[in-house]
Amino acid sequence: MQVTEITAVSILTPQKVGSLAGSYDYSLNPYGGCAFRCSYCYVPKFPNARHSDYREWGKWLEVKTNAPDLIRKERVKVFGSSIFFSSATDPYQYIELKYRLSRRCLQELLRYQPRRVTLHTRSHLVLQDLELLRQFGEKLSVGISITTDDESICRQFEPGAPSISKRLHLLSSLSSAGIDVYVSMSPLLPCNPERLAELIKPFTQTAWIDTMRWTEVNNRKDLLDKYSSFFEAASLQAASQTIMQKLKSEAT
Ligand code: SF4
Repeated sequence: MQVTEITAVSILTPQKVGSLAGSYDYSLNPYGGCAFRCSYCYVPKFPNARHSDYREWGKWLEVKTNAPDLIRKERVKVFGSSIFFSSATDPYQYIELKYRLSRRCLQELLRYQPRRVTLHTRSHLVLQDLELLRQFGEKLSVGISITTDDESICRQFEPGAPSISKRLHLLSSLSSAGIDVYVSMSPLLPCNPERLAELIKPFTQTAWIDTMRWTEVNNRKDLLDKYSSFFEAASLQAASQTIMQKLKSEAT
Protein backbone atom coordinates (compact mmCIF):
# COMPACT_ATOMS: atom_id res chain seq x y z
CA MET A 1 0.00 0.00 0.00
CA GLN A 2 1.39 3.35 -1.04
CA VAL A 3 0.44 5.97 1.55
CA THR A 4 0.92 9.66 0.78
CA GLU A 5 0.28 12.51 3.17
CA ILE A 6 -1.22 15.46 1.35
CA THR A 7 -2.41 18.97 2.15
CA ALA A 8 -5.95 19.31 0.85
CA VAL A 9 -7.29 22.58 -0.54
CA SER A 10 -10.80 22.07 0.84
CA ILE A 11 -12.61 19.32 2.74
CA LEU A 12 -16.36 20.04 2.52
CA THR A 13 -17.43 19.23 -1.02
CA PRO A 14 -20.78 20.73 -2.09
CA GLN A 15 -23.20 18.09 -3.33
CA LYS A 16 -25.35 18.54 -6.40
CA VAL A 17 -28.84 17.10 -6.71
CA GLY A 18 -28.46 13.76 -8.45
CA SER A 19 -24.97 13.10 -7.12
CA LEU A 20 -24.28 10.16 -4.83
CA ALA A 21 -24.82 12.19 -1.68
CA GLY A 22 -27.20 14.57 -3.45
CA SER A 23 -29.60 15.01 -0.55
CA TYR A 24 -26.77 16.42 1.59
CA ASP A 25 -25.17 19.84 1.51
CA TYR A 26 -21.60 18.50 1.66
CA SER A 27 -19.59 15.31 1.59
CA LEU A 28 -16.47 14.90 3.69
CA ASN A 29 -13.65 12.51 2.75
CA PRO A 30 -10.62 12.64 5.09
CA TYR A 31 -8.80 10.02 3.02
CA GLY A 32 -8.40 9.45 -0.70
CA GLY A 33 -8.47 5.84 -1.87
CA CYS A 34 -9.71 2.88 0.13
CA ALA A 35 -7.99 -0.25 1.41
CA PHE A 36 -11.23 -2.23 1.49
CA ARG A 37 -10.96 -2.86 -2.28
CA CYS A 38 -14.60 -3.65 -2.99
CA SER A 39 -14.76 -5.06 -6.49
CA TYR A 40 -17.87 -3.02 -7.30
CA CYS A 41 -16.55 0.31 -5.98
CA TYR A 42 -17.71 3.15 -8.22
CA VAL A 43 -15.18 5.71 -6.93
CA PRO A 44 -12.18 4.80 -9.15
CA LYS A 45 -14.47 4.76 -12.17
CA PHE A 46 -15.65 8.35 -11.82
CA PRO A 47 -14.54 10.45 -14.79
CA ASN A 48 -12.67 12.74 -12.39
CA ALA A 49 -11.00 9.90 -10.44
CA ARG A 50 -7.61 11.00 -9.15
CA HIS A 51 -5.82 7.93 -10.40
CA SER A 52 -6.66 7.05 -13.95
CA ASP A 53 -6.11 3.29 -13.72
CA TYR A 54 -8.92 1.82 -11.62
CA ARG A 55 -7.04 -1.47 -11.37
CA GLU A 56 -4.72 0.30 -8.92
CA TRP A 57 -7.66 0.95 -6.57
CA GLY A 58 -6.88 -0.40 -3.10
CA LYS A 59 -3.11 -0.04 -3.61
CA TRP A 60 -2.77 3.63 -2.67
CA LEU A 61 -4.07 5.96 0.00
CA GLU A 62 -3.93 9.70 0.39
CA VAL A 63 -4.12 11.10 3.90
CA LYS A 64 -5.50 14.65 4.06
CA THR A 65 -3.54 15.57 7.15
CA ASN A 66 -5.04 19.06 7.37
CA ALA A 67 -8.68 17.87 7.20
CA PRO A 68 -9.58 18.92 10.79
CA ASP A 69 -7.91 22.32 10.25
CA LEU A 70 -9.94 22.82 7.09
CA ILE A 71 -13.18 22.11 8.92
CA ARG A 72 -12.23 24.80 11.40
CA LYS A 73 -11.44 27.14 8.54
CA GLU A 74 -14.71 26.30 6.74
CA ARG A 75 -16.80 26.31 9.92
CA VAL A 76 -19.36 28.74 8.48
CA LYS A 77 -20.36 26.00 6.05
CA VAL A 78 -20.80 23.45 8.83
CA PHE A 79 -23.36 25.38 10.87
CA GLY A 80 -26.86 24.11 10.09
CA SER A 81 -25.76 21.95 7.16
CA SER A 82 -26.10 18.24 6.34
CA ILE A 83 -22.91 16.28 5.80
CA PHE A 84 -22.28 12.82 4.33
CA PHE A 85 -19.14 11.31 5.84
CA SER A 86 -17.82 9.72 3.53
CA SER A 87 -18.86 9.30 -0.09
CA ALA A 88 -15.56 8.28 -1.72
CA THR A 89 -13.62 6.39 0.95
CA ASP A 90 -14.29 4.49 4.16
CA PRO A 91 -13.59 6.90 7.03
CA TYR A 92 -12.82 4.05 9.42
CA GLN A 93 -10.51 1.94 7.31
CA TYR A 94 -7.46 0.65 9.19
CA ILE A 95 -5.24 3.65 8.55
CA GLU A 96 -7.55 5.58 10.87
CA LEU A 97 -5.75 3.78 13.72
CA LYS A 98 -2.62 5.70 12.83
CA TYR A 99 -3.95 9.14 11.85
CA ARG A 100 -7.28 9.42 13.70
CA LEU A 101 -8.39 11.88 11.06
CA SER A 102 -12.04 10.83 11.12
CA ARG A 103 -12.13 11.14 14.89
CA ARG A 104 -10.61 14.61 14.74
CA CYS A 105 -12.96 15.69 11.95
CA LEU A 106 -15.96 14.56 14.01
CA GLN A 107 -14.64 16.51 16.99
CA GLU A 108 -14.50 19.63 14.83
CA LEU A 109 -17.95 19.06 13.33
CA LEU A 110 -19.44 18.68 16.80
CA ARG A 111 -18.05 22.08 17.73
CA TYR A 112 -19.69 23.87 14.78
CA GLN A 113 -23.19 22.40 15.01
CA PRO A 114 -24.18 20.79 11.72
CA ARG A 115 -27.88 20.02 11.32
CA ARG A 116 -27.30 16.40 10.28
CA VAL A 117 -24.31 14.09 9.92
CA THR A 118 -24.46 10.66 8.32
CA LEU A 119 -21.45 8.49 8.91
CA HIS A 120 -21.15 5.64 6.46
CA THR A 121 -18.79 2.73 7.00
CA ARG A 122 -18.08 -0.99 6.79
CA SER A 123 -15.76 -0.85 9.78
CA HIS A 124 -16.09 -1.83 13.43
CA LEU A 125 -13.31 0.68 14.26
CA VAL A 126 -15.96 3.36 14.55
CA LEU A 127 -16.82 1.81 17.92
CA GLN A 128 -13.61 3.29 19.28
CA ASP A 129 -15.32 6.69 18.95
CA LEU A 130 -18.64 5.67 20.45
CA GLU A 131 -18.65 8.35 23.14
CA LEU A 132 -17.97 10.99 20.54
CA LEU A 133 -20.80 9.69 18.34
CA ARG A 134 -23.17 9.85 21.30
CA GLN A 135 -22.49 13.54 21.74
CA PHE A 136 -24.14 14.29 18.39
CA GLY A 137 -27.49 13.01 19.72
CA GLU A 138 -30.25 12.93 17.14
CA LYS A 139 -28.17 14.81 14.58
CA LEU A 140 -26.16 11.67 13.77
CA SER A 141 -27.04 8.54 11.84
CA VAL A 142 -24.63 5.72 11.10
CA GLY A 143 -25.05 3.70 7.93
CA ILE A 144 -23.42 0.28 7.98
CA SER A 145 -22.88 -1.52 4.75
CA ILE A 146 -23.95 -5.16 5.11
CA THR A 147 -24.26 -6.57 1.64
CA THR A 148 -24.67 -10.31 2.30
CA ASP A 149 -25.01 -12.81 5.13
CA ASP A 150 -22.30 -15.02 3.63
CA GLU A 151 -18.69 -14.45 4.75
CA SER A 152 -17.25 -16.21 1.72
CA ILE A 153 -19.18 -13.90 -0.62
CA CYS A 154 -17.96 -10.93 1.40
CA ARG A 155 -14.33 -12.07 1.06
CA GLN A 156 -14.69 -12.45 -2.69
CA PHE A 157 -16.36 -9.12 -3.42
CA GLU A 158 -14.97 -7.02 -0.52
CA PRO A 159 -11.55 -8.60 0.09
CA GLY A 160 -10.08 -5.90 2.34
CA ALA A 161 -13.18 -5.04 4.37
CA PRO A 162 -14.11 -6.26 7.88
CA SER A 163 -16.11 -9.47 8.13
CA ILE A 164 -19.90 -9.53 8.15
CA SER A 165 -19.84 -10.74 11.76
CA LYS A 166 -17.83 -7.66 12.79
CA ARG A 167 -20.31 -5.41 10.98
CA LEU A 168 -23.23 -7.13 12.71
CA HIS A 169 -21.50 -6.60 16.03
CA LEU A 170 -21.10 -2.92 15.11
CA LEU A 171 -24.79 -2.70 14.23
CA SER A 172 -25.79 -4.30 17.51
CA SER A 173 -23.42 -2.14 19.59
CA LEU A 174 -24.50 1.15 18.04
CA SER A 175 -28.16 0.25 18.35
CA SER A 176 -27.69 -0.67 22.02
CA ALA A 177 -25.95 2.66 22.57
CA GLY A 178 -29.00 4.51 21.23
CA ILE A 179 -27.35 5.64 17.99
CA ASP A 180 -29.63 5.88 14.97
CA VAL A 181 -28.48 3.16 12.57
CA TYR A 182 -29.50 1.88 9.17
CA VAL A 183 -28.13 -0.82 6.90
CA SER A 184 -27.00 -0.22 3.38
CA MET A 185 -27.13 -3.12 0.94
CA SER A 186 -25.53 -1.28 -1.93
CA PRO A 187 -25.11 -3.46 -3.78
CA LEU A 188 -27.04 -6.49 -2.64
CA LEU A 189 -24.65 -9.43 -3.11
CA PRO A 190 -25.47 -13.14 -3.35
CA CYS A 191 -27.11 -14.05 -0.08
CA ASN A 192 -29.86 -15.87 1.71
CA PRO A 193 -32.27 -12.90 1.84
CA GLU A 194 -34.39 -14.29 4.67
CA ARG A 195 -31.37 -14.94 6.83
CA LEU A 196 -29.88 -11.53 6.04
CA ALA A 197 -33.10 -9.82 7.11
CA GLU A 198 -33.25 -11.94 10.27
CA LEU A 199 -29.72 -10.88 11.18
CA ILE A 200 -30.36 -7.16 10.97
CA LYS A 201 -33.98 -6.74 12.04
CA PRO A 202 -33.36 -6.87 15.80
CA PHE A 203 -31.37 -3.66 15.40
CA THR A 204 -32.96 -1.68 12.58
CA GLN A 205 -35.83 -1.89 10.14
CA THR A 206 -34.26 0.66 7.84
CA ALA A 207 -32.36 -0.72 4.88
CA TRP A 208 -31.30 0.80 1.61
CA ILE A 209 -31.17 -1.82 -1.08
CA ASP A 210 -29.59 -0.99 -4.40
CA THR A 211 -29.67 -3.62 -7.08
CA MET A 212 -29.01 -1.35 -10.02
CA ARG A 213 -25.89 -0.44 -12.00
CA TRP A 214 -23.44 -2.26 -9.76
CA THR A 215 -22.78 -5.04 -12.18
CA GLU A 216 -21.61 -2.43 -14.69
CA VAL A 217 -18.84 -1.13 -12.44
CA ASN A 218 -17.88 -4.47 -10.92
CA ASN A 219 -14.34 -5.28 -12.00
CA ARG A 220 -14.59 -9.00 -11.17
CA LYS A 221 -16.35 -10.38 -14.21
CA ASP A 222 -15.49 -13.88 -13.04
CA LEU A 223 -17.62 -13.32 -9.93
CA LEU A 224 -20.47 -11.88 -11.95
CA ASP A 225 -20.38 -15.01 -14.11
CA LYS A 226 -20.11 -17.33 -11.13
CA TYR A 227 -23.18 -15.81 -9.47
CA SER A 228 -25.00 -14.80 -12.64
CA SER A 229 -28.29 -16.39 -11.57
CA PHE A 230 -28.40 -14.13 -8.49
CA PHE A 231 -27.60 -11.01 -10.50
CA GLU A 232 -30.46 -11.51 -12.94
CA ALA A 233 -32.96 -8.66 -12.53
CA ALA A 234 -35.85 -10.89 -11.47
CA SER A 235 -33.75 -12.71 -8.91
CA LEU A 236 -32.39 -9.47 -7.42
CA GLN A 237 -35.84 -8.01 -7.23
CA ALA A 238 -37.22 -11.10 -5.50
CA ALA A 239 -34.38 -11.05 -2.95
CA SER A 240 -34.93 -7.32 -2.23
CA GLN A 241 -38.65 -7.83 -1.77
CA THR A 242 -38.07 -10.71 0.62
CA ILE A 243 -35.75 -8.58 2.72
CA MET A 244 -38.06 -5.56 2.81
CA GLN A 245 -41.13 -7.67 3.62
CA LYS A 246 -39.30 -9.44 6.39
CA LEU A 247 -38.11 -6.17 7.91
CA LYS A 248 -41.52 -4.58 7.57
CA SER A 249 -43.34 -7.50 9.12
CA GLU A 250 -41.08 -7.26 12.13
CA ALA A 251 -41.69 -3.54 12.44
CA THR A 252 -45.48 -3.79 12.66
S1 SF4 B 1 -15.60 0.65 1.34
FE1 SF4 B 1 -16.66 2.07 -0.07
S2 SF4 B 1 -15.03 3.42 -0.84
FE2 SF4 B 1 -14.04 1.62 0.05
S3 SF4 B 1 -13.70 0.23 -1.69
FE3 SF4 B 1 -15.67 -0.33 -0.68
S4 SF4 B 1 -17.24 0.78 -1.83
FE4 SF4 B 1 -15.25 1.76 -2.33
